Amino acid sequence: MKRETRRRLLVKEDLIYGPLLSRRLGRSLGVNLLGAGAKLCSFNCRYCQCGWTAHPILKATEPMADLPSGEKIADALGTRLQQLCREQIPIDAITFSGNGEPTLHPDLQAIVKAASALRDTYVPHAKLAILSNSSTVHWPEVRVALQGIDLKLMKLDAGSDTLVRRINLPAKGWDFATMVQGLAKLDGVLLQAMFVWGKVANTAPLAIREWSDQVAEIRPRGVHIYTLDRVPADPGLTPVSRGVLESIARYARRRAHVPVEVY
Ligand code: SF4
Repeated sequence: MKRETRRRLLVKEDLIYGPLLSRRLGRSLGVNLLGAGAKLCSFNCRYCQCGWTAHPILKATEPMADLPSGEKIADALGTRLQQLCREQIPIDAITFSGNGEPTLHPDLQAIVKAASALRDTYVPHAKLAILSNSSTVHWPEVRVALQGIDLKLMKLDAGSDTLVRRINLPAKGWDFATMVQGLAKLDGVLLQAMFVWGKVANTAPLAIREWSDQVAEIRPRGVHIYTLDRVPADPGLTPVSRGVLESIARYARRRAHVPVEVY
């Protein structure tokens, strides 16, 4: 299968997808807040499995055509949960993710509230989870929404403004210090970091030291690190070896005094 074809398949066509078996979340039912077939994100990560972001945007108030309404998402989630209950298919997590950055959805608060009520009704043992790139973590409305989510998996791929800009190519207006401060004020945050080699790498000793120091500043309840396992947007990237990931984890545990797991 050609690389472009494989990448297109990774852009979700449904509002609700799965459950998929996730190494970190167990049986995870995905909720794609960004609509079908296209990507909407505030970052343009070189390693993105959905390909390049056409127009990275940061502000949740900017017009966002074609986003599914909160009601439509809640209806689709309710229907799918009823079906899973009928078929006795268990799930461990309802995960907000999908084609881009889920916190860009302007109705995130209402969607989290509706999903929480549906979870309590149909799958009371499941967790609500989010995979976010952290770019909007300082926005008051996003912070309120995040309070309703059990597992907040937030991205931090590098410990300096310069290196984040090289790896994640953020939208205009993004600010590294603001993002780190927002993460440090978020209760129960789990950090996630992608390490890569190739055209841009974030594994040099200085990069790992700077990243570990920012992790220490944020004081997360845990850190998940991993490398590429899908075709990246930028073909100049390659995966980091397992040995290097293990050594990054050992260093960061010692320097930041937090649990770091390799996935
Ligand atoms: S934040 Fe996620 S969706 Fe957005 S470009 Fe990066 S990897 Fe892709």
